[in-house]
Amino acid sequence: MASTSPVFLRLMANAVAVANHAGNIIREVMSKGDLGIVEKGVNDPQTEADRRAQQCIIGNLNKKFPLMSIIGEEDLAQETNVELVSDIDKEVLNLRCPEELVNVTEEDFVVWVDPLDGTAEYTAGMLDHVTVLIGIAHKNRPVGGVIHQPYYNYKNDKAGLGRTMWGIPGIGVGGFKPIPPPEGKRLVVTTRSHMTPVVQQALEALKPDEILRVGGAGYKVMLLMEGHATAYVFASPGCKKWDTCAPEAILTAMGGRLTDIHGTPYSYASTEMHPNKRGVLAAAKSDDHKWFVENIPDEVKQLVQGS
Ligand code: AMP
Ligand code: MG
Ligand code: MG
Repeated sequence: MASTSPVFLRLMANAVAVANHAGNIIREVMSKGDLGIVEKGVNDPQTEADRRAQQCIIGNLNKKFPLMSIIGEEDLAQETNVELVSDIDKEVLNLRCPEELVNVTEEDFVVWVDPLDGTAEYTAGMLDHVTVLIGIAHKNRPVGGVIHQPYYNYKNDKAGLGRTMWGIPGIGVGGFKPIPPPEGKRLVVTTRSHMTPVVQQALEALKPDEILRVGGAGYKVMLLMEGHATAYVFASPGCKKWDTCAPEAILTAMGGRLTDIHGTPYSYASTEMHPNKRGVLAAAKSDDHKWFVENIPDEVKQLVQGS
């Protein structure tokens, strides 16, 4: 059965399995205690967990899909002798494939990998903000996404540790239950560690009932997915394509929307520049998204134009 499944479903099912394995690596590095922190830039750390998780994810996906473009956050020479992940997620493998992807071959997918999103929070012990993001794009658009949260339930030793969420626009989502945000309230989630005056100006103009400041693009979108926030607003160029591809796929699959702050979707072609220079605006409901696009001040839009 597996060998006759469409490439897309095999890719999604492998992405779930390798994301789970990356989660094991992230917990193992933390439990050994030496994070091996390297500063890539201002307020932009990398740890041994980022490096090993990326080697595992890209090494395994490369072996199974050698002709596919895979773009990872970390600038590393890919090791060839990575530990093989032999399992595959059977539930995802047996999903219905979107009609337009049934005959697409591996050369025509682009995979964006953030091996550990929320590194600053990982080093600060805010472990539930940490996620592994694997986004799959076809014809420039996100068509499948996997978010693994390695420390889900870590404060509750009776429940299972870690979980994996996925979404395929046109098919659905799994690994979590989508919950709409509370009606009549504007709960806005934004950066915890990359605040700027323009980000602040945008937030103030939107007059939120509450501002939630958490780490990582994956964790912010999870707050949208489970009804804890109305919108994710980041009027700044710091996020990259690997931060938003998987979250956008899942949000779209549940009826939400993720774009730049002008309301224009990003392209995820392999030739795109990595930064999301026009900022990020996401909402669990597309009607809410429209409201936020209309209410972000023109002055802010002019300052975050990507040029
Ligand atoms: P944050 O919301 O600040 O946790 O950022 C979400 C994602 O975008 C994380 O992967 C960050 O590393 C990245 N990011 C946002 N702003 C910046 C920045 N100024 N420099 C480097 N990375 C950033
Ligand atoms: Mg990231
Ligand atoms: Mg990262």
